[in-house]
Amino acid sequence: MDFQHNDKTKALLERVENFMDEHVYPAEPEFLRRMNEGGPIGSSQVLHDLQEKAKAEGLWNLFFHHGLHELNNVEFAPLCEAMSKVYWSQIVFNSMAPDTGNIETLEAFGTEAQKEQWMKPLLAGEISSAFAMTEPDVASSDATNIRLSIHRDGDEFVINGRKWWTSGVADPHCKLLIVLGRDADADPDAKHGKHTMLLVPKDSPGITVVRELSVFGYNEWPHGHGEVLFEDVRVPAEAVLLGKGRGFEVAQGRLGPGRIHYGMRCIGLAERALELMCRRVLERETFGAPIATRTVTLERIAESRIMIDQARLLVLNAAHLLDTVGVKGARKEVAMIKVAAPNMACQVIDWAIQAHGGAGLSADTPLAYYYSRARLMRIGDGPDEVHRNSIGKLELARYKKKG
Ligand SMILES: Cc1cc2nc3c(=O)[nH]c(=O)nc-3n(C[C@H](O)[C@H](O)[C@H](O)COP(=O)(O)OP(=O)(O)OC[C@H]3O[C@@H](n4cnc5c(N)ncnc54)[C@H](O)[C@@H]3O)c2cc1C
Repeated sequence: MDFQHNDKTKALLERVENFMDEHVYPAEPEFLRRMNEGGPIGSSQVLHDLQEKAKAEGLWNLFFHHGLHELNNVEFAPLCEAMSKVYWSQIVFNSMAPDTGNIETLEAFGTEAQKEQWMKPLLAGEISSAFAMTEPDVASSDATNIRLSIHRDGDEFVINGRKWWTSGVADPHCKLLIVLGRDADADPDAKHGKHTMLLVPKDSPGITVVRELSVFGYNEWPHGHGEVLFEDVRVPAEAVLLGKGRGFEVAQGRLGPGRIHYGMRCIGLAERALELMCRRVLERETFGAPIATRTVTLERIAESRIMIDQARLLVLNAAHLLDTVGVKGARKEVAMIKVAAPNMACQVIDWAIQAHGGAGLSADTPLAYYYSRARLMRIGDGPDEVHRNSIGKLELARYKKKG
Protein backbone atom coordinates (compact mmCIF):
# COMPACT_ATOMS: atom_id res chain seq x y z
CA MET A 1 0.00 0.00 0.00
CA ASP A 2 1.31 3.40 -0.88
CA PHE A 3 0.45 5.53 2.15
CA GLN A 4 3.53 7.67 2.65
CA HIS A 5 4.97 7.85 6.13
CA ASN A 6 7.47 10.54 7.06
CA ASP A 7 11.23 9.94 6.88
CA LYS A 8 11.59 9.42 10.63
CA THR A 9 8.97 6.65 10.55
CA LYS A 10 10.43 5.01 7.45
CA ALA A 11 13.89 4.92 9.00
CA LEU A 12 12.55 3.43 12.26
CA LEU A 13 10.47 0.90 10.35
CA GLU A 14 13.55 -0.30 8.56
CA ARG A 15 15.33 -0.71 11.89
CA VAL A 16 12.39 -2.62 13.44
CA GLU A 17 12.18 -4.90 10.39
CA ASN A 18 15.94 -5.54 10.47
CA PHE A 19 15.71 -6.35 14.17
CA MET A 20 12.85 -8.76 13.50
CA ASP A 21 14.86 -10.49 10.75
CA GLU A 22 18.02 -10.69 12.78
CA HIS A 23 16.70 -11.57 16.24
CA VAL A 24 12.98 -12.30 16.42
CA TYR A 25 12.17 -14.60 13.48
CA PRO A 26 15.11 -16.87 14.37
CA ALA A 27 13.69 -17.26 17.91
CA GLU A 28 10.20 -18.09 16.64
CA PRO A 29 10.69 -21.87 16.14
CA GLU A 30 11.56 -22.23 19.82
CA PHE A 31 8.27 -20.58 20.79
CA LEU A 32 6.33 -22.75 18.33
CA ARG A 33 8.03 -25.85 19.72
CA ARG A 34 6.88 -24.93 23.21
CA MET A 35 3.31 -24.50 21.98
CA ASN A 36 3.47 -27.84 20.18
CA GLU A 37 4.37 -29.47 23.47
CA GLY A 38 1.47 -27.73 25.19
CA GLY A 39 3.95 -25.75 27.25
CA PRO A 40 3.97 -22.06 28.01
CA ILE A 41 4.31 -19.68 25.10
CA GLY A 42 6.87 -17.36 26.59
CA SER A 43 10.36 -17.87 27.88
CA SER A 44 11.44 -15.12 30.19
CA GLN A 45 15.16 -15.58 29.52
CA VAL A 46 14.79 -15.47 25.71
CA LEU A 47 12.48 -12.48 26.00
CA HIS A 48 14.76 -10.78 28.49
CA ASP A 49 17.82 -11.17 26.21
CA LEU A 50 15.90 -9.82 23.24
CA GLN A 51 14.62 -6.92 25.32
CA GLU A 52 18.16 -5.94 26.24
CA LYS A 53 19.10 -5.94 22.55
CA ALA A 54 16.08 -3.84 21.58
CA LYS A 55 16.86 -1.38 24.37
CA ALA A 56 20.50 -1.13 23.28
CA GLU A 57 19.38 -0.41 19.71
CA GLY A 58 16.99 2.37 20.79
CA LEU A 59 13.93 0.36 19.73
CA TRP A 60 12.32 0.67 23.12
CA ASN A 61 8.95 2.11 24.23
CA LEU A 62 8.18 3.03 20.64
CA PHE A 63 4.47 3.40 21.51
CA PHE A 64 5.21 6.10 24.09
CA HIS A 65 4.68 9.62 22.79
CA HIS A 66 7.27 11.01 25.17
CA GLY A 67 9.78 8.26 24.50
CA LEU A 68 13.13 8.48 22.74
CA HIS A 69 11.59 9.04 19.30
CA GLU A 70 8.46 10.95 20.40
CA LEU A 71 6.20 9.13 17.97
CA ASN A 72 2.54 9.97 17.56
CA ASN A 73 -0.09 7.33 16.79
CA VAL A 74 0.25 7.61 13.00
CA GLU A 75 4.03 7.19 13.26
CA PHE A 76 3.76 4.24 15.63
CA ALA A 77 1.18 2.41 13.45
CA PRO A 78 3.53 0.76 10.91
CA LEU A 79 6.04 -0.10 13.65
CA CYS A 80 3.38 -1.79 15.77
CA GLU A 81 2.21 -3.66 12.70
CA ALA A 82 5.73 -4.85 11.90
CA MET A 83 6.43 -6.08 15.42
CA SER A 84 3.03 -7.81 15.64
CA LYS A 85 3.94 -10.17 12.80
CA VAL A 86 5.49 -12.27 15.55
CA TYR A 87 2.91 -11.62 18.21
CA TRP A 88 4.99 -11.96 21.38
CA SER A 89 7.69 -9.66 20.02
CA GLN A 90 5.77 -6.63 21.25
CA ILE A 91 7.12 -7.60 24.68
CA VAL A 92 10.64 -7.41 23.21
CA PHE A 93 10.05 -3.76 22.25
CA ASN A 94 8.28 -2.93 25.56
CA SER A 95 5.17 -2.11 23.54
CA MET A 96 2.77 -4.78 24.82
CA ALA A 97 -0.67 -4.39 26.36
CA PRO A 98 -1.59 -3.88 29.12
CA ASP A 99 1.67 -2.05 29.97
CA THR A 100 1.20 0.32 27.03
CA GLY A 101 -2.26 1.42 28.19
CA ASN A 102 -1.19 1.50 31.83
CA ILE A 103 1.82 3.69 31.08
CA GLU A 104 -0.34 6.04 29.03
CA THR A 105 -2.85 6.16 31.88
CA LEU A 106 -0.14 7.05 34.39
CA GLU A 107 1.26 9.65 32.03
CA ALA A 108 -2.16 11.26 31.53
CA PHE A 109 -3.62 11.00 35.04
CA GLY A 110 -0.83 10.14 37.49
CA THR A 111 0.66 12.50 40.04
CA GLU A 112 4.42 13.10 39.92
CA ALA A 113 4.88 10.66 42.83
CA GLN A 114 2.78 7.98 41.06
CA LYS A 115 4.79 8.43 37.87
CA GLU A 116 8.03 8.12 39.79
CA GLN A 117 6.88 5.00 41.64
CA TRP A 118 5.23 3.13 38.74
CA MET A 119 5.67 4.72 35.33
CA LYS A 120 9.45 5.00 35.50
CA PRO A 121 10.12 1.29 36.22
CA LEU A 122 7.48 0.29 33.65
CA LEU A 123 9.21 2.38 30.98
CA ALA A 124 12.54 0.86 32.00
CA GLY A 125 11.06 -2.65 31.63
CA GLU A 126 11.99 -3.42 35.25
CA ILE A 127 8.43 -4.33 36.15
CA SER A 128 5.18 -5.10 34.32
CA SER A 129 1.58 -4.36 35.22
CA ALA A 130 -2.03 -5.44 34.80
CA PHE A 131 -5.40 -3.76 34.40
CA ALA A 132 -8.19 -5.22 36.51
CA MET A 133 -11.64 -4.12 35.44
CA THR A 134 -13.61 -7.20 34.30
CA GLU A 135 -15.38 -9.33 36.92
CA PRO A 136 -16.69 -12.89 36.68
CA ASP A 137 -19.93 -12.12 38.50
CA VAL A 138 -21.22 -9.24 36.36
CA ALA A 139 -21.55 -8.55 32.63
CA SER A 140 -18.51 -6.34 32.32
CA SER A 141 -19.24 -5.12 28.78
CA ASP A 142 -21.22 -2.58 30.75
CA ALA A 143 -18.62 -1.10 33.07
CA THR A 144 -21.29 0.49 35.27
CA ASN A 145 -21.94 -3.08 36.52
CA ILE A 146 -18.47 -3.27 38.10
CA ARG A 147 -18.96 -3.98 41.79
CA LEU A 148 -15.59 -4.72 43.44
CA SER A 149 -15.95 -2.73 46.63
CA ILE A 150 -13.70 0.22 47.52
CA HIS A 151 -14.29 1.56 51.00
CA ARG A 152 -12.55 4.61 52.47
CA ASP A 153 -11.19 3.93 55.97
CA GLY A 154 -9.26 6.90 57.38
CA ASP A 155 -6.15 7.41 55.27
CA GLU A 156 -6.66 4.16 53.40
CA PHE A 157 -8.89 2.45 50.86
CA VAL A 158 -10.02 -1.10 51.59
CA ILE A 159 -10.68 -3.31 48.57
CA ASN A 160 -12.86 -6.45 48.43
CA GLY A 161 -13.99 -8.36 45.38
CA ARG A 162 -13.03 -10.59 42.50
CA LYS A 163 -11.64 -9.83 39.04
CA TRP A 164 -10.81 -12.05 36.09
CA TRP A 165 -9.19 -11.83 32.72
CA THR A 166 -6.60 -9.66 34.39
CA SER A 167 -3.96 -9.94 31.66
CA GLY A 168 -0.36 -10.05 32.74
CA VAL A 169 -1.10 -10.69 36.41
CA ALA A 170 0.57 -14.11 36.30
CA ASP A 171 3.88 -12.64 35.17
CA PRO A 172 6.41 -12.73 38.03
CA HIS A 173 7.50 -9.23 36.94
CA CYS A 174 3.99 -7.88 37.44
CA LYS A 175 4.14 -5.50 40.41
CA LEU A 176 1.22 -3.13 39.76
CA LEU A 177 -2.52 -3.67 39.33
CA ILE A 178 -4.64 -0.77 38.11
CA VAL A 179 -8.00 -1.63 39.64
CA LEU A 180 -11.46 -0.24 38.92
CA GLY A 181 -13.98 -0.57 41.73
CA ARG A 182 -17.19 0.84 43.07
CA ASP A 183 -17.22 3.21 46.03
CA ALA A 184 -18.99 1.41 48.87
CA ASP A 185 -20.08 4.74 50.34
CA ALA A 186 -21.33 6.32 47.07
CA ASP A 187 -24.95 7.42 46.79
CA PRO A 188 -26.63 4.41 45.11
CA ASP A 189 -29.02 6.74 43.24
CA ALA A 190 -26.23 8.90 41.85
CA LYS A 191 -25.91 8.61 38.06
CA HIS A 192 -22.18 9.30 37.93
CA GLY A 193 -19.11 9.32 40.11
CA LYS A 194 -19.54 5.93 41.75
CA HIS A 195 -16.37 4.28 40.48
CA THR A 196 -12.75 4.82 41.40
CA MET A 197 -9.44 3.66 39.90
CA LEU A 198 -6.65 2.65 42.29
CA LEU A 199 -2.97 1.80 41.91
CA VAL A 200 -2.51 -1.40 43.88
CA PRO A 201 0.86 -3.13 44.47
CA LYS A 202 0.43 -6.74 43.42
CA ASP A 203 2.22 -8.04 46.51
CA SER A 204 -0.28 -6.32 48.87
CA PRO A 205 -1.56 -8.64 51.61
CA GLY A 206 -5.02 -9.98 50.67
CA ILE A 207 -4.38 -10.39 46.93
CA THR A 208 -4.55 -13.95 45.60
CA VAL A 209 -4.21 -15.02 41.99
CA VAL A 210 -6.76 -17.82 42.23
CA ARG A 211 -6.05 -19.37 38.82
CA GLU A 212 -4.78 -18.68 35.35
CA LEU A 213 -7.08 -18.66 32.32
CA SER A 214 -6.03 -20.08 29.00
CA VAL A 215 -7.15 -18.70 25.64
CA PHE A 216 -8.35 -21.45 23.25
CA GLY A 217 -6.30 -23.74 25.49
CA TYR A 218 -3.08 -21.76 25.01
CA ASN A 219 -1.07 -21.30 28.14
CA GLU A 220 -0.01 -17.68 27.89
CA TRP A 221 2.74 -17.63 30.49
CA PRO A 222 4.55 -15.40 31.27
CA HIS A 223 1.85 -13.00 30.20
CA GLY A 224 -1.00 -15.08 31.64
CA HIS A 225 -4.51 -13.88 32.36
CA GLY A 226 -5.67 -14.43 35.91
CA GLU A 227 -8.62 -14.54 38.23
CA VAL A 228 -7.74 -12.38 41.20
CA LEU A 229 -9.31 -12.26 44.64
CA PHE A 230 -9.08 -9.10 46.77
CA GLU A 231 -9.73 -9.66 50.48
CA ASP A 232 -9.44 -6.58 52.71
CA VAL A 233 -6.61 -5.23 50.60
CA ARG A 234 -5.43 -1.88 51.93
CA VAL A 235 -3.77 0.91 49.96
CA PRO A 236 -3.03 4.48 51.06
CA ALA A 237 -5.35 7.29 49.94
CA GLU A 238 -2.58 8.54 47.60
CA ALA A 239 -3.08 5.39 45.49
CA VAL A 240 -6.15 6.89 43.83
CA LEU A 241 -5.86 7.87 40.18
CA LEU A 242 -7.26 11.30 39.30
CA GLY A 243 -9.68 11.28 42.23
CA LYS A 244 -12.35 9.34 44.06
CA GLY A 245 -15.39 8.76 41.84
CA ARG A 246 -13.48 9.61 38.66
CA GLY A 247 -12.70 6.05 37.56
CA PHE A 248 -14.65 6.22 34.31
CA GLU A 249 -12.87 9.37 33.21
CA VAL A 250 -9.60 7.45 33.56
CA ALA A 251 -11.03 4.36 31.83
CA GLN A 252 -12.23 6.37 28.84
CA GLY A 253 -8.89 8.12 28.46
CA ARG A 254 -7.08 4.79 28.68
CA LEU A 255 -9.04 2.96 26.06
CA GLY A 256 -8.62 5.27 23.05
CA PRO A 257 -4.94 4.63 22.26
CA GLY A 258 -5.20 1.05 23.62
CA ARG A 259 -7.96 0.16 21.19
CA ILE A 260 -6.14 1.55 18.20
CA HIS A 261 -3.12 -0.60 19.09
CA TYR A 262 -5.45 -3.60 18.75
CA GLY A 263 -6.09 -2.52 15.18
CA MET A 264 -2.40 -2.19 14.39
CA ARG A 265 -1.67 -5.61 15.91
CA CYS A 266 -4.43 -7.26 13.89
CA ILE A 267 -2.99 -5.84 10.69
CA GLY A 268 0.42 -7.30 11.56
CA LEU A 269 -1.16 -10.71 12.23
CA ALA A 270 -3.13 -10.61 8.98
CA GLU A 271 -0.13 -9.49 6.89
CA ARG A 272 1.91 -12.38 8.23
CA ALA A 273 -0.94 -14.83 7.60
CA LEU A 274 -1.30 -13.62 4.02
CA GLU A 275 2.44 -13.96 3.48
CA LEU A 276 2.41 -17.54 4.82
CA MET A 277 -0.65 -18.36 2.72
CA CYS A 278 0.98 -17.07 -0.49
CA ARG A 279 4.21 -18.98 0.13
CA ARG A 280 2.37 -22.18 0.93
CA VAL A 281 0.01 -22.23 -2.06
CA LEU A 282 2.86 -21.52 -4.47
CA GLU A 283 4.78 -24.59 -3.33
CA ARG A 284 1.98 -27.20 -2.91
CA GLU A 285 0.34 -28.96 -5.82
CA THR A 286 -2.94 -30.89 -6.06
CA PHE A 287 -4.39 -32.60 -9.12
CA GLY A 288 -1.48 -31.50 -11.27
CA ALA A 289 -1.36 -27.80 -10.50
CA PRO A 290 -0.17 -25.51 -7.67
CA ILE A 291 -2.94 -24.60 -5.23
CA ALA A 292 -2.05 -20.98 -6.04
CA THR A 293 -3.59 -21.37 -9.51
CA ARG A 294 -7.09 -22.22 -8.24
CA THR A 295 -9.59 -19.42 -8.63
CA VAL A 296 -10.81 -19.82 -5.06
CA THR A 297 -7.24 -19.31 -3.80
CA LEU A 298 -6.73 -16.22 -5.93
CA GLU A 299 -10.07 -14.86 -4.73
CA ARG A 300 -9.07 -15.31 -1.09
CA ILE A 301 -5.65 -13.77 -1.62
CA ALA A 302 -7.16 -10.81 -3.44
CA GLU A 303 -9.87 -10.34 -0.82
CA SER A 304 -7.28 -10.54 1.96
CA ARG A 305 -5.19 -7.82 0.35
CA ILE A 306 -8.27 -5.62 -0.06
CA MET A 307 -9.42 -6.16 3.52
CA ILE A 308 -6.00 -5.59 5.07
CA ASP A 309 -5.44 -2.36 3.18
CA GLN A 310 -8.93 -1.13 4.04
CA ALA A 311 -8.30 -1.82 7.73
CA ARG A 312 -4.90 -0.13 7.59
CA LEU A 313 -6.44 3.04 6.20
CA LEU A 314 -9.08 2.96 8.94
CA VAL A 315 -6.32 2.59 11.54
CA LEU A 316 -4.37 5.49 10.11
CA ASN A 317 -7.46 7.66 9.97
CA ALA A 318 -8.33 6.89 13.60
CA ALA A 319 -4.68 7.42 14.59
CA HIS A 320 -4.63 10.78 12.82
CA LEU A 321 -7.78 11.87 14.65
CA LEU A 322 -6.38 10.72 18.00
CA ASP A 323 -3.25 12.74 17.28
CA THR A 324 -5.11 15.85 16.20
CA VAL A 325 -8.44 16.03 18.05
CA GLY A 326 -7.94 13.56 20.92
CA VAL A 327 -9.83 10.59 22.34
CA LYS A 328 -13.26 12.27 22.39
CA GLY A 329 -13.12 13.49 18.83
CA ALA A 330 -11.90 10.10 17.57
CA ARG A 331 -14.50 8.02 19.42
CA LYS A 332 -16.37 6.74 16.39
CA GLU A 333 -13.27 6.03 14.31
CA VAL A 334 -11.57 4.18 17.18
CA ALA A 335 -14.70 2.07 17.71
CA MET A 336 -14.81 1.37 13.96
CA ILE A 337 -11.29 0.01 13.84
CA LYS A 338 -11.84 -1.95 17.06
CA VAL A 339 -14.59 -3.84 15.19
CA ALA A 340 -13.12 -3.92 11.68
CA ALA A 341 -9.55 -5.03 12.36
CA PRO A 342 -10.12 -8.20 14.47
CA ASN A 343 -12.92 -9.36 12.14
CA MET A 344 -10.69 -8.80 9.14
CA ALA A 345 -7.80 -10.64 10.80
CA CYS A 346 -10.03 -13.60 11.78
CA GLN A 347 -11.12 -14.00 8.18
CA VAL A 348 -7.65 -13.65 6.63
CA ILE A 349 -6.07 -16.02 9.17
CA ASP A 350 -8.90 -18.50 8.65
CA TRP A 351 -8.21 -18.55 4.91
CA ALA A 352 -4.49 -18.96 5.58
CA ILE A 353 -5.22 -21.92 7.88
CA GLN A 354 -7.43 -23.46 5.18
CA ALA A 355 -4.69 -23.02 2.58
CA HIS A 356 -2.27 -24.91 4.85
CA GLY A 357 -4.56 -27.88 5.34
CA GLY A 358 -3.77 -29.84 8.51
CA ALA A 359 -0.53 -27.94 9.03
CA GLY A 360 -2.55 -24.77 9.56
CA LEU A 361 -4.18 -26.23 12.65
CA SER A 362 -0.93 -27.51 14.13
CA ALA A 363 1.69 -25.50 15.98
CA ASP A 364 4.13 -25.99 13.08
CA THR A 365 2.99 -22.57 11.91
CA PRO A 366 1.91 -19.65 14.13
CA LEU A 367 -1.49 -19.48 12.38
CA ALA A 368 -3.63 -21.32 14.93
CA TYR A 369 -2.25 -19.16 17.73
CA TYR A 370 -2.78 -16.05 15.60
CA TYR A 371 -6.40 -17.00 15.09
CA SER A 372 -6.85 -17.20 18.86
CA ARG A 373 -5.28 -13.71 19.18
CA ALA A 374 -7.49 -12.13 16.54
CA ARG A 375 -10.61 -13.83 17.90
CA LEU A 376 -10.00 -12.68 21.47
CA MET A 377 -9.73 -9.12 20.22
CA ARG A 378 -13.40 -9.31 19.20
CA ILE A 379 -14.16 -9.51 22.94
CA GLY A 380 -11.23 -7.96 24.85
CA ASP A 381 -11.64 -4.22 25.56
CA GLY A 382 -15.33 -4.57 24.81
CA PRO A 383 -17.18 -6.93 22.46
CA ASP A 384 -17.99 -6.04 18.85
CA GLU A 385 -21.66 -5.47 19.64
CA VAL A 386 -20.97 -2.74 22.18
CA HIS A 387 -18.67 -0.87 19.80
CA ARG A 388 -21.19 -1.27 16.96
CA ASN A 389 -23.89 0.17 19.24
CA SER A 390 -21.70 3.22 19.87
CA ILE A 391 -20.95 3.68 16.17
CA GLY A 392 -24.65 3.36 15.32
CA LYS A 393 -25.66 5.91 17.94
CA LEU A 394 -23.02 8.40 16.82
CA GLU A 395 -24.16 7.98 13.24
CA LEU A 396 -27.82 8.51 14.17
CA ALA A 397 -26.89 11.58 16.20
CA ARG A 398 -25.95 13.31 12.95
CA TYR A 399 -29.57 13.16 11.82
CA LYS A 400 -31.41 13.85 15.05
CA LYS A 401 -33.32 17.11 15.14
CA LYS A 402 -31.83 19.66 17.49
CA GLY A 403 -33.84 21.33 20.25
C1 LIG B 1 -7.87 -12.74 26.40
C2 LIG B 1 -8.61 -11.68 27.12
C3 LIG B 1 -7.88 -10.72 27.79
C4 LIG B 1 -8.56 -9.76 28.56
N1 LIG B 1 -7.81 -8.86 29.28
C5 LIG B 1 -8.46 -8.04 30.15
C6 LIG B 1 -7.71 -7.22 31.06
O1 LIG B 1 -6.47 -7.20 31.03
N2 LIG B 1 -8.39 -6.50 31.97
C7 LIG B 1 -9.75 -6.49 32.04
O2 LIG B 1 -10.30 -5.81 32.89
N3 LIG B 1 -10.49 -7.25 31.19
C8 LIG B 1 -9.88 -8.03 30.27
N4 LIG B 1 -10.61 -8.84 29.43
C9 LIG B 1 -12.05 -8.89 29.59
C10 LIG B 1 -12.83 -8.27 28.45
O3 LIG B 1 -12.64 -6.89 28.38
C11 LIG B 1 -14.30 -8.67 28.69
O4 LIG B 1 -14.40 -10.07 28.52
C12 LIG B 1 -15.24 -7.94 27.77
O5 LIG B 1 -15.30 -6.57 28.05
C13 LIG B 1 -16.66 -8.52 27.85
O6 LIG B 1 -17.12 -8.58 29.16
P1 LIG B 1 -17.73 -9.96 29.69
O7 LIG B 1 -16.76 -11.05 29.43
O8 LIG B 1 -18.19 -9.76 31.08
O9 LIG B 1 -18.96 -10.27 28.73
P2 LIG B 1 -20.50 -9.86 28.99
O10 LIG B 1 -20.57 -8.43 29.39
O11 LIG B 1 -21.10 -10.89 29.85
O12 LIG B 1 -21.08 -9.97 27.51
C14 LIG B 1 -21.25 -11.23 26.86
C15 LIG B 1 -21.67 -11.01 25.45
O13 LIG B 1 -22.92 -10.36 25.41
C16 LIG B 1 -23.03 -9.63 24.22
N5 LIG B 1 -23.36 -8.24 24.54
C17 LIG B 1 -22.96 -7.52 25.61
N6 LIG B 1 -23.46 -6.27 25.55
C18 LIG B 1 -24.20 -6.20 24.44
C19 LIG B 1 -24.96 -5.17 23.81
N7 LIG B 1 -25.03 -3.94 24.35
N8 LIG B 1 -25.59 -5.46 22.63
C20 LIG B 1 -25.51 -6.69 22.10
N9 LIG B 1 -24.81 -7.69 22.63
C21 LIG B 1 -24.15 -7.46 23.78
C22 LIG B 1 -21.68 -9.71 23.50
O14 LIG B 1 -21.74 -10.71 22.50
C23 LIG B 1 -20.76 -10.15 24.61
O15 LIG B 1 -19.61 -10.85 24.13
C24 LIG B 1 -9.97 -9.76 28.61
C25 LIG B 1 -10.68 -10.71 27.89
C26 LIG B 1 -10.03 -11.67 27.15
C27 LIG B 1 -10.83 -12.70 26.42
